Amino acid sequence: MLFRQLFDPDSSTYTYLLADEETREAVIIDSVLEQVDRDLGLIADLGLKLVYALDTHVHADHVTGLSQLKERTGCTTILSERAGVSCADRLVKDGDRIRFGGQELEVLETPGHTNGCLSFVTGDRRMVFTGDALLIRGTGRTDFQQGDAHQLYRSVTEKIFRLPASTLVFPGHDYKGRTASSIGEEKRLNPRLGEGRTEASFVELMAGLGLPYPKKIDVALPANLKCGSTTAAEPVIPSTWAPVEVSAGGLPEVAPGWVERHRAAVRLVDVREQDEFEGELGRVPGSELVPLGALPGAAAGWDRKKPVVLICRSGGRSGKAAIQLLEMGFEGVASMRGGMSAWNEERLPTEHRTR
Ligand code: FE
Repeated sequence: MLFRQLFDPDSSTYTYLLADEETREAVIIDSVLEQVDRDLGLIADLGLKLVYALDTHVHADHVTGLSQLKERTGCTTILSERAGVSCADRLVKDGDRIRFGGQELEVLETPGHTNGCLSFVTGDRRMVFTGDALLIRGTGRTDFQQGDAHQLYRSVTEKIFRLPASTLVFPGHDYKGRTASSIGEEKRLNPRLGEGRTEASFVELMAGLGLPYPKKIDVALPANLKCGSTTAAEPVIPSTWAPVEVSAGGLPEVAPGWVERHRAAVRLVDVREQDEFEGELGRVPGSELVPLGALPGAAAGWDRKKPVVLICRSGGRSGKAAIQLLEMGFEGVASMRGGMSAWNEERLPTEHRTR
């Protein structure tokens, strides 16, 4: 099998090109929009035909090249059926196989960094592409995009680490110039969840990382929910249900005044904590409390066609919540601009705790 590892220095992302040497059919894993010309140039140089473009997950740190690659080569785009996006041609699940010529990749669902994370194992089990689940001597973060440290621990230890010790690990990123590892090496040496590390210690470690807000998330995530096809000036969602405006950070927002006039037509979800919901700023009448951390679980059972307006104190948490719901496939989602602070400044009616 033909194999190339490519690198995007801006986001430290690895892109992988695999091909069947006989039929020349190729797949590309985790392409980066800015590197599509480079990748297509290499594909042409090597006389390959791109049949599949796959992403290990919906990325928050770079815009994917999926849409560009599809447009320019007619390849089939692939994402996890749990990624919460409908832009890909094929949605795959655990155990599915992606065949190109006489080669194949097996799909492993390895959630925890995001809920739609996949790893891809070559048919001969010599290589595994782990995305941001397992990194060299590390793991992806678990504090965004429905990340869950418990789940990530199990994905790595119960799925990825079941592969042969000699299987080479090719991660989604490396920030220290390393290019590959092996299952045996990571089992022995990974300081987060290698030998001797328990699930509890991993969860504690991940909770204490205190990483900065992902640099490109506000641009990359809305774009990647459309497989990288959106431009910065384009609205994030088709907004037939409300005058949704896109904030400078790329988040869908509606004005407090509009919310007051259309309270009955939308689901009003307040993502603050209980003490704030019952606190001095009050709440929007008819709103329900679902603290941000509980949102993915609660929203799983909601009607995805009913528009949702998210509310917090100032518009920060509700923006993150909006992205989460868009990722889950909700059709009409917006954050209330300025949150309860703006609501109060505009002297709109509030409801207070009645106890
Ligand atoms: Fe990631």
